[in-house]
Amino acid sequence: MHRRFKAVLLFALTGFGLLGSSFAENPQVTVSVYNDVEVSPDTLTQAEQRAANIFLRAGFDVTWLNCAQMNGGTAACNEMDEPAHLSLRITSQVARSTSDTAFGVAFLASDGTGRYGDVFWKRAQELHANSKVDLALILGSVMAHEMGHLLLGSNAHAISGIMRAHWESTELRRIAMGTLLFLPEQGRRMGKRMAGSRTVLISSLRGCSSILPAQRCCSS
Ligand SMILES: [Zn+2]
Repeated sequence: MHRRFKAVLLFALTGFGLLGSSFAENPQVTVSVYNDVEVSPDTLTQAEQRAANIFLRAGFDVTWLNCAQMNGGTAACNEMDEPAHLSLRITSQVARSTSDTAFGVAFLASDGTGRYGDVFWKRAQELHANSKVDLALILGSVMAHEMGHLLLGSNAHAISGIMRAHWESTELRRIAMGTLLFLPEQGRRMGKRMAGSRTVLISSLRGCSSILPAQRCCSS
């Protein structure tokens, strides 16, 4: 009996170890957040937790850098060399002539790459007022949607899930329940794109490509 208990304990510890290592191997996404509209710290923290949870369910870990607007934040806020370092600005401006005018905009180059996105605070507030769904949960879902655009590239919208272009009662209900998520295929697509970007970056460092500023290239 004692031996059996030890075997079970060993199995459990091994299982936890494997579990821990699988979490440790999740691809890392870093996001510099610029809170231009002074969203309250509680709301912003809850929104970031919701967005991080959406990404965790897709197999990614998110690190948030809350960057001060006045001085540009800490140095880490501006270190955008890593492929999965994104920048989100929560703004009172609502951009016109964008493909995603409802809640925000992701700025993508013609090849579908991009790092910078805006979240329209007024639109999140309006959706909260009209639906009574928690504001932080709406904000976090919008943040995850715009991050999805940046990580998925062109043609990121889908007929269901967090990347649906228009959110209606079904999506709002799922936001409230915490089940508005990326589709499995989208998680795989983001992982592939991030792995591909890393390969390009490493190749650039080795080959001294002009992609990176000269002072970072081949410095030793
Ligand atoms: Zn969109």
